[in-house]
Amino acid sequence: MEFPIEGSCQCGQASYKLYEKPQMVLACHCTECQKLSTSPFSVTAVIASTAIEVKGELKEWSRYADSGNRNNAKFCPACGNRIYHYNPDNSGTIKLKLKPVDLANDGVFTPSAHVWVCEKVGWYQIPDGIKVFEKQPKY
Ligand SMILES: [Zn+2]
Ligand SMILES: [Zn+2]
Repeated sequence: MEFPIEGSCQCGQASYKLYEKPQMVLACHCTECQKLSTSPFSVTAVIASTAIEVKGELKEWSRYADSGNRNNAKFCPACGNRIYHYNPDNSGTIKLKLKPVDLANDGVFTPSAHVWVCEKVGWYQIPDGIKVFEKQPKY
C-alpha cells in the first residue's frame, strides 16, 4: 500500500488525499445506500478525520439515520458525486465513500463486513467468509 492515496469526484472538482489505512470498511445494503450509490450497496471506509485532506468545494445535506444519529453528507456541487459522510456530534471519524483506487492500492477498500443485508437485493451474492449483519452492528 502506498500512501497518500488520492481520489476525486467524477468531474474532478473535489479531491482528497488519504494518509492512513481505513479503520474499517463496510458494504451497506440499506435502501438509503442503494439510492445513494445507484447500485445494490455502497462501500464506506471509516477513517480518522485527521487522516484525510479534502480539496474543492463541497455542498452538504443532512438526514437522521435509523439510530437517531445525524448523518451529514458532503458532495460535489458540480457533478453531485458523494465524497463522505460524518456525524456532526462525533467528529473523530468520517465515512469516506468508495472511489476507485489505482492498482497498487487495490484492496484498501475491500469490505470486512456487509451490513443491512435484510434489505439486500436478491440477485447479489455476498462472498463466502465475510461477516454479515442483518442491520447496523453496534460498535
Ligand atoms: Zn465533481
Ligand atoms: Zn446504508
